[in-house]
Amino acid sequence: MIKKIEHIGIAVKNLENSNELFKKLFGNSHYKIETVETEGVSTSFFMIGETKIELLQATNENSAIAKFIEKKGEGIHHIAYEVDNIQDEMLRLQSEGFELINKNPKDGADNKQICFLHPKSTNGMLVELCQEKSLTD
Ligand code: ZN
Repeated sequence: MIKKIEHIGIAVKNLENSNELFKKLFGNSHYKIETVETEGVSTSFFMIGETKIELLQATNENSAIAKFIEKKGEGIHHIAYEVDNIQDEMLRLQSEGFELINKNPKDGADNKQICFLHPKSTNGMLVELCQEKSLTD
């Protein structure tokens, strides 16, 4: 089951500059920075009330973020939804005709297991499913 919007991902060219920009916008600083080398991204996280904003900067030119910025420029990259069981949701959404970009959950930033749905099956919006990794995993 999809529970709520977990975060909104925004692609940026320069994380350091954008951290300063968003600090001015939100009136508070990011609370963490995390690099996910397997995804080719550096991320920072802001908390706005109960809403999390993730800024993403490419760490190499083959990164999905680098390609996104090349095609579309900076801006909203994905919306992430929290699910209670990512495996079950992946199976359910696949059976509903959505196209999964990764066939198995993978490690994302912020202690999450994640899966992306292809934008061509979701009206053009990249969708991320995420489930908090339990401490026992
Ligand atoms: Zn994300």
